[in-house]
Amino acid sequence: MLDLESIFSSDGVLSASIPGFHVRSQQLEMAQAIADSIEKHQVLVAEAGTGTGKTVAYLVPALLLGGKVIISTGTKTLQDQLFERDIPMVRSALKVPVTIALLKGRANYICHYHLEKTVQDTHATFANRDEIKYLHHIERFAKHSTTGDKSSLKDVPENASIWQMVTSTRDNCLGSECAHFKQCFVMEARKQALSADVIVVNHHLFFADVMLRDEGLSELLPACNTVIFDEAHQLPETASLFFGESISTGQLLDLVHDAKVEAIQSAAEVTALANVIAATEKATRDLRLTIPEDNTRLSLAMLKHNTSFGPALDNLLETMTALVKLLESQAERSEGLENCRQRAANHLYMVQNWRNEAELSDHVRWVEVYHQALQLHATPLNVAEIFARQMNASPRAWIFTSATLSVKKDFSHYNDEMGLAAAQTACWDSPFNFAEQAVLYVPTDLPEPHHRQYTDHVVQVALPVLRASRGRAFFLCTSLRAMQRVHELLVQSDEFDYPLLLQGQGSRSYLLDQFRALDNAVLIGSQSFWEGVDVRGDALSLVIIDKLPFASPDDPVLSARIEKMNNEGRNAFMEYQLPRAVINLKQGAGRLIRDETDRGVLMICDPRLITKTYGKQIWQSLPPMKRTRELAEVERFFAERENASTL
Ligand code: SF4
Repeated sequence: MLDLESIFSSDGVLSASIPGFHVRSQQLEMAQAIADSIEKHQVLVAEAGTGTGKTVAYLVPALLLGGKVIISTGTKTLQDQLFERDIPMVRSALKVPVTIALLKGRANYICHYHLEKTVQDTHATFANRDEIKYLHHIERFAKHSTTGDKSSLKDVPENASIWQMVTSTRDNCLGSECAHFKQCFVMEARKQALSADVIVVNHHLFFADVMLRDEGLSELLPACNTVIFDEAHQLPETASLFFGESISTGQLLDLVHDAKVEAIQSAAEVTALANVIAATEKATRDLRLTIPEDNTRLSLAMLKHNTSFGPALDNLLETMTALVKLLESQAERSEGLENCRQRAANHLYMVQNWRNEAELSDHVRWVEVYHQALQLHATPLNVAEIFARQMNASPRAWIFTSATLSVKKDFSHYNDEMGLAAAQTACWDSPFNFAEQAVLYVPTDLPEPHHRQYTDHVVQVALPVLRASRGRAFFLCTSLRAMQRVHELLVQSDEFDYPLLLQGQGSRSYLLDQFRALDNAVLIGSQSFWEGVDVRGDALSLVIIDKLPFASPDDPVLSARIEKMNNEGRNAFMEYQLPRAVINLKQGAGRLIRDETDRGVLMICDPRLITKTYGKQIWQSLPPMKRTRELAEVERFFAERENASTL
């Protein structure tokens, strides 16, 4: 029988070996609930407020009882943190001989085959001189690295375009046909994952490869006794993405590029092949050019007004059909050409499916447009059934945990979305004293959020609060446009004199380092800073949120889901949009108080929090802070804090 009480006690093994370990009843209870679910192969959905210590709460029972465990996190940074710091720390405290493996998506590992091709390709074009220098670094690194993980090669920036030329995709990997198969980094990482006791993955990899598609990983999930999702609030979004079908012009251009290289090397005299490859490239680029907008999502209904999109798509289908035919006749000349044939046939099938309205009828079809590419998506209207089917395949424990899964401790929205009808649910409040540590401030006199100059009004009411907090704030906006406007107004304001940082002016980690170092900065951000950001201490004393974070109803997937629910006689706003907004808001608000000594103000500018009947449900879902609508009270709070810190 596992004695968790003793492990988590003040004289237990955790306390003896983890610096700064505090005894928290919530953490022990959570560990007990997880241990119980692991033993009974149950599904547990567990919300743990900030400061509960949920990572240690799930790691202890997972390492002691979990058997073979997959832990999936929201980001690669968290994945590295678990693998390099948290799991080794708990493992050594518990003195259990479990083996750990870190598994990332294949784009994170150097591919010997594509590296060699790129080095040998005399026609290769590089974005700039640095890329050639990077290629030499990568070549040297690949020779002595044991993992081939690109995050270990600090000399080459993570976003350098050379990475695309030296890594593989599921499409262009030759698998067991590859001459480098025995030394392959991707295959080695998978081999280690298959033999390890604990495997750390991320949600994208879990859904894209482990659960669904990639052959080499299909053995991983069936062999597992326990699956733990950290940051589980992100799963509905990720599952939608990966349970759907999508094909991008980028994938088609990659295919065209590889087919060109293979054709030159193995079928140079077949001019018809070169011609059809060129025609496919042109048809692919032409399709992108039919949509003038950038960075947008368009539904089929929106595309009906675009008279050139349909013909361009049909033209692409025609050239792709010709390409597949020609590749079929030449494929036996090389493994590379055979790989291109398979990919071309697969891509053609995807585009045909997307074009054919009779296919994928329970999916919403839409287009995502980037600066240089576009992606055709077919997203399921409901992921619950698909997910439930995958989960029921064999008995094991499934643990879903995050600081934000419920609305006022009600998990029905999350469970409905994920198909977790039979799940146990549990909720542990943060151990922090929110009534003492934080104030929720909702300013008066703001217009309705659809007002044309709403953001200008928000900045006006925010200025005195930013002065009272002496900067040290996150200004979180619900749209990029509002974020730019806030920045513009603060730069112009004579009443504002603190360093300003803006999302996009450097990587997220660079901006956060700057923010911590400056100690009086204001960071203006949008979605990137709503979650997964941990700034402790006085450097972050104020979080301003411009609007309640309702997702845009123009989003094709959201609007199709809303329509479906309303057609079924359900109330999509109360059942879907509101709970999603609450979960998002809790994430944004969660940036403020990160430990027992943090103090600060959460300013939510949206008047609907007070004027609408649903507003109460929203603020009651937030931690129990003191509430005010008086600026004077906020100023007093900051003044008292200043006095206390100078005593
Ligand atoms: S098996 Fe695939 S990933 Fe590995 S080296 Fe060959 S092509 Fe690259």
